[in-house]
Amino acid sequence: MHDQGLLQRFLRYVQVNTTAQADSENYPSSPGQLALGRLLATELQALGLSDARQNQHGIVLATIPATLFQNVAQPSSNVAQPPPVVPTIALCAHLDTSPETTGAGVRPQVLENYAGGDIVLPGDAGQVIRVADNPELPALRGRTLITTDGTTLLGADDKAGVAVVMETAAWLVAHSEIPHGPVRICFTCDEEVGRGVDKLDLDEIAATACYTLDGHGSGEIDVETFSADQAVVTIRGVNIHPSIAKGRMTNAVRAAAQFIAGLPHDCLSPETTEGREGFLHPYEISGGVAEVKLKILLRDFAAAELAGLADRLRQTAAAVRRDFPAAEITVHIDRQYRNMAEGLAREPRAVAYAEQALQTLGRTAKLTIVRGGTDGSRLTELGLPTPNLSCGAHNPHSPLEWACLEEMVESVEWLVALVEVWSEGQGGRRRAEGG
Ligand SMILES: [Zn+2]
Repeated sequence: MHDQGLLQRFLRYVQVNTTAQADSENYPSSPGQLALGRLLATELQALGLSDARQNQHGIVLATIPATLFQNVAQPSSNVAQPPPVVPTIALCAHLDTSPETTGAGVRPQVLENYAGGDIVLPGDAGQVIRVADNPELPALRGRTLITTDGTTLLGADDKAGVAVVMETAAWLVAHSEIPHGPVRICFTCDEEVGRGVDKLDLDEIAATACYTLDGHGSGEIDVETFSADQAVVTIRGVNIHPSIAKGRMTNAVRAAAQFIAGLPHDCLSPETTEGREGFLHPYEISGGVAEVKLKILLRDFAAAELAGLADRLRQTAAAVRRDFPAAEITVHIDRQYRNMAEGLAREPRAVAYAEQALQTLGRTAKLTIVRGGTDGSRLTELGLPTPNLSCGAHNPHSPLEWACLEEMVESVEWLVALVEVWSEGQGGRRRAEGG
């Protein structure tokens, strides 16, 4: 594997500012995503992938054609039968970075042969990547780590994924002896602001399974995500000048305060839950005496539990109404995404082959759950089973973000093995025979 080539790709991509803008009406929300997409489409074209393109939404798509039937001689007895169909699989990563920390002027620092210990970032001595906060660090002694200078995020979420997919494409193009079916490459925009799948056309991807490369560390497969709804609670009060308000004003600010106080806070909140526990999370408030809007996240691994969380919000609204009879309170709930576990169960090969591919490399996959969503949550819900795989990124969305080159290389090796596993049983060679 070309470690240096992969490193150079990663450094090239992180220096394009692709911060997503939550308040933008545009798609993609920032021009840097278009610039990075253009660069990637050009690089994919240069690899010889003639259908590589950036579509009208800024999404980059390309296909690595199947090698299987050009490289495996068909026994003559098969001539009368149509060749077996090797499923198309898709590899997906997102171009944007989180708006939580700026991605402008990223100055990546390459730390070769990491000696262990805390890492003080050179642009801001107050920014220290501490072993105490990063228990995975001691095991990475001797590896190559990439950090920022402490003044920006790194953008390994998800440019580590982008670099891993690009390097995999380059490797497969250069090694046509590896048997595989069609492999679709897909780079999406605005994942970090929840719009990653909005403009994606599943007919254009036309794959049996998809893998997002947007996971933490190495060798992990995210097989479950939260199920998610969002509530907007609107409280309309009665506004009148305070001088003549006696007996007439209904202050929506006070009603909103009571609403929030009525929500559970010593349980069922992000601050007090972990693992498989769900929560209600009031995360935004705006307005004044006449009207207040509250935005609240509803999260649970079991989609059925969301109805119970919604009921709690309605009960809270009813209690507030009793104390503020003139207030008009509405609870509007929008569906966001669903736990991918259900959809993955309908195509068990998606996870099983990813585990099997890692086994062929002598490693064991760790199945993990995400207390959030991925593009794969929505894609799986829409009918394209999409587990999320590790790609060497750590500490996302923060100036303390870092990546490990060797873990990124491991992800490329994993994907190469994965496309081969998908071809087996459909006429592909076993790895042992393929050499
Ligand atoms: Zn991501």
